[in-house]
Amino acid sequence: MKIALISDIHSNLEAFSEVLKDIKRKKIIKIFCIGDIVGYGANPNECVDLIKKMRIKSVQGNHEFYCQDLDQLEEFNPYAADALSWTHHALTKENLAFLAKLPKTMKAEGIFFVHGSPREPLEEYVFEDVSIDDAKLFFDKAKTEIIALGHTHRPFVKRFGDKMIFNPGSVGQPRDGNPKASYCIFDTKTKTVEIQRVEYNIKKAADKIMEAGLPLILSSRLYRGR
Ligand code: ZN
Repeated sequence: MKIALISDIHSNLEAFSEVLKDIKRKKIIKIFCIGDIVGYGANPNECVDLIKKMRIKSVQGNHEFYCQDLDQLEEFNPYAADALSWTHHALTKENLAFLAKLPKTMKAEGIFFVHGSPREPLEEYVFEDVSIDDAKLFFDKAKTEIIALGHTHRPFVKRFGDKMIFNPGSVGQPRDGNPKASYCIFDTKTKTVEIQRVEYNIKKAADKIMEAGLPLILSSRLYRGR
């Protein structure tokens, strides 16, 4: 069976909609989300509503956590803090409560899902150069041979013998230099991951960010994929 994994949608409805169309075209029914549905972009409620409507199981990302309580934003850079505050006020009470209740980790299809890392579910950034020592600790904590994580907005697949850590990249704010939306397809039989890139209407999403009064960098970076 093939399943789709998405992460870091970041309130980008244009990117999210195109990714969902692409998944549908490929006749994949099961979708999992690795967190950061909201934050940065202009359509938080629409993106949360789609997650609910499509019954996509998701873990909580740092943006879902920190948009709840605005007293904790000091550690963020100014544009992330601005976006979190904007998102908090834009979200309906119902959607805020939905995001607050998401689990920090989950297991399905033999995969451990976490936004950051098994050591620090919301905070830690795991890149492709993850060390073997860290990987060992992650697999011990996860108690699975496969870990899917997000948070860095950079797709990668790294194998350690039979074990594997991968990141599908970011749907709504890629940072690997490729502005196309990123997600992945996982084959549960062959245990292989295919990263997918999808074109979407960047201008529409970027213009909405400007019109919403969100920090300008959040709009311009979408064109660069950085
Ligand atoms: Zn993110």
